[in-house]
Amino acid sequence: MKTNQLHQLFKECTGVSTDTRKIEKNTMFFALKGENFNGNKFAQTAINLGAKYAIVDEDLEINVSSSIIKVDNALNTLQELASFHRKTLKTPIIALTGSNGKTTTKELINAVLSTQYKTIATKGNLNNHIGVPLTLLEINESTHIAVVEMGANHQKEIEFLCEIAQPDFGLITNYGKAHLEGFGGVEGVIKGKTEMYIHLKSNHKTIFYNSEDAIQSEKIRGYSSTFKFSTKGNGDVNLQLVDTDPTLSIMFEDNLIKTNLTGTYNFTNVAYAILIGKYFKISDEKIKKAIEGYVPQNNRSQILKTNRNKIVLDAYNANPTSMALALESFEKIKHPNKIALLGDMFELGEAAQEEHQNIINLLETSPINRAVLIGKHFYSCNIQSNFILQFETFEDAFNYLKKSEINNAQILIKASRGMALERLVELF
Ligand code: ATP
Ligand code: MG
Repeated sequence: MKTNQLHQLFKECTGVSTDTRKIEKNTMFFALKGENFNGNKFAQTAINLGAKYAIVDEDLEINVSSSIIKVDNALNTLQELASFHRKTLKTPIIALTGSNGKTTTKELINAVLSTQYKTIATKGNLNNHIGVPLTLLEINESTHIAVVEMGANHQKEIEFLCEIAQPDFGLITNYGKAHLEGFGGVEGVIKGKTEMYIHLKSNHKTIFYNSEDAIQSEKIRGYSSTFKFSTKGNGDVNLQLVDTDPTLSIMFEDNLIKTNLTGTYNFTNVAYAILIGKYFKISDEKIKKAIEGYVPQNNRSQILKTNRNKIVLDAYNANPTSMALALESFEKIKHPNKIALLGDMFELGEAAQEEHQNIINLLETSPINRAVLIGKHFYSCNIQSNFILQFETFEDAFNYLKKSEINNAQILIKASRGMALERLVELF
């Protein structure tokens, strides 16, 4: 079936779905395949549950009805449909990528823009070759602005996602040491993320950027369609970080914003939301209210207070850049008993040993009281100081911490997602 014909059918539907457990009436179901599942097996269920059409790419042993549409590749078809759909819309799209802080920045931008506009933003972290098409297919004629998160762990991925989404605006949160394995080192990360700028430039679109990021500044040199923030007074929007203990307070023009965010790294995330709010002519009061109302979720720099301890729970993910920044911020918090519980960082390839050792080197001179390191990578590093402890497994660390009965401490918990260090919270 031709994409324009499929798009006609899509317009009869209420939306798109890829999961029969969450299906809604009159959606278009796409039978996607993963390592452990084959959506084709659920196509009939999808129809039975109320899907209007099911797009499949295998011959099914069921009653073939006109609701079931066979294509060569359901994933490609989903992407082509999203790309076609996008071209039928005039909605401005803001795309964002970067090594860290995409979801936080996306949520903050959406909080600000939705005070005045009807927006669609990526749900949760659906930022890949499936999530981006799904987000695009949620946009309709009544959407004023869409905010689309784009994730990548290898070259050409951002280029591909930009081709589909055709963004009018874009930003890179930062360049950091994330997914080093797939990108081929730090230079690879820079190249991979910069695909967004290349796309925006070649289509004469606008780039939002951080004028104090040396790499971003270099990459946009000579390009005029930009809008930037600065702490040095030379931005299109100028702001200052005025407090970080434990949450960030930010001045922009005459407004003081008291956020619920911890960690200095969140400053640029907030700065982008302010920048974009100003670009889209949102009042300072609305920007302030939207940002002050944003509370991080899902173990992303959450601040927890138990009866006995205070916790910065940052167990959503970690990489060398975000780990070093989290430690730096943690060091600035004033507290007599600070304990860092850090777990392994994944996907570092050959750099793993060195990057874990680098974190330990930072810890060795850190003013914190105790550090507990968890996981195989940290376990294989060299340690000089006796306030830093190593445990090879989660269970060993858990048992040690359980016996330690920690009270009246300020605790930082951070690791890669696979370590699931939020399981430690119950101990405090
Ligand atoms: P993912 O790759 O999973 O999509 P993401 O880029 O969307 O991640 P977030 O989910 O917003 O990032 O934040 C994840 C963690 O990254 C936070 O909990 C925090 O530790 C760290 N982080 C957030 N913003 C920044 C930033 N600007 N610079 C460095 N680290 C950051
Ligand atoms: Mg994300």
